[in-house]
Amino acid sequence: MPIYAYCCQSCEEHFEELVRAAAEPPPCSKCGSTDVVRILSVFSTEWKPSNVNWHRVV
Ligand SMILES: [Zn+2]
Repeated sequence: MPIYAYCCQSCEEHFEELVRAAAEPPPCSKCGSTDVVRILSVFSTEWKPSNVNWHRVV
Protein backbone atom coordinates (compact mmCIF):
# COMPACT_ATOMS: atom_id res chain seq x y z
CA MET A 1 0.00 0.00 0.00
CA PRO A 2 1.47 3.34 -0.99
CA ILE A 3 2.35 6.10 1.43
CA TYR A 4 1.35 9.56 0.35
CA ALA A 5 2.53 12.80 1.83
CA TYR A 6 0.17 15.73 2.10
CA CYS A 7 0.53 19.41 2.83
CA CYS A 8 -2.32 21.24 4.53
CA GLN A 9 -3.18 24.52 2.82
CA SER A 10 -4.67 25.95 5.99
CA CYS A 11 -1.88 25.46 8.52
CA GLU A 12 0.97 24.15 6.31
CA GLU A 13 1.17 20.95 8.33
CA HIS A 14 2.89 18.10 6.55
CA PHE A 15 1.72 14.58 7.20
CA GLU A 16 1.73 11.16 5.63
CA GLU A 17 -1.08 8.69 5.20
CA LEU A 18 -1.43 5.14 4.05
CA VAL A 19 -4.13 5.50 1.43
CA ARG A 20 -5.50 3.82 -1.64
CA ALA A 21 -4.70 5.43 -4.95
CA ALA A 22 -8.27 6.49 -5.60
CA ALA A 23 -9.04 7.54 -2.05
CA GLU A 24 -10.02 11.07 -1.16
CA PRO A 25 -7.27 13.10 0.50
CA PRO A 26 -7.43 12.62 4.27
CA PRO A 27 -8.18 15.58 6.52
CA CYS A 28 -5.26 17.41 8.07
CA SER A 29 -3.91 15.57 11.10
CA LYS A 30 -3.36 18.86 12.88
CA CYS A 31 -6.31 21.15 12.15
CA GLY A 32 -8.75 18.78 10.44
CA SER A 33 -9.00 20.84 7.27
CA THR A 34 -9.76 18.96 4.06
CA ASP A 35 -7.92 21.57 2.02
CA VAL A 36 -4.82 19.46 1.53
CA VAL A 37 -2.65 18.72 -1.47
CA ARG A 38 -0.78 15.54 -2.20
CA ILE A 39 2.98 15.78 -2.40
CA LEU A 40 4.14 13.17 -4.85
CA SER A 41 7.81 14.09 -4.77
CA VAL A 42 8.21 13.10 -1.14
CA PHE A 43 7.30 9.56 -1.97
CA SER A 44 10.35 9.08 -4.16
CA THR A 45 12.84 11.33 -2.41
CA GLU A 46 12.35 10.65 1.29
CA TRP A 47 10.68 7.28 1.56
CA LYS A 48 13.59 4.88 1.35
CA PRO A 49 14.36 1.43 2.74
CA SER A 50 15.33 1.74 6.37
CA ASN A 51 18.09 -0.82 6.07
CA VAL A 52 20.13 1.30 3.69
CA ASN A 53 22.35 4.10 4.85
CA TRP A 54 21.69 6.62 2.09
CA HIS A 55 23.58 9.38 3.80
CA ARG A 56 26.76 7.34 3.65
CA VAL A 57 26.36 6.88 -0.11
CA VAL A 58 26.11 10.63 -0.63
ZN1 LIG B 1 -3.97 21.80 8.83
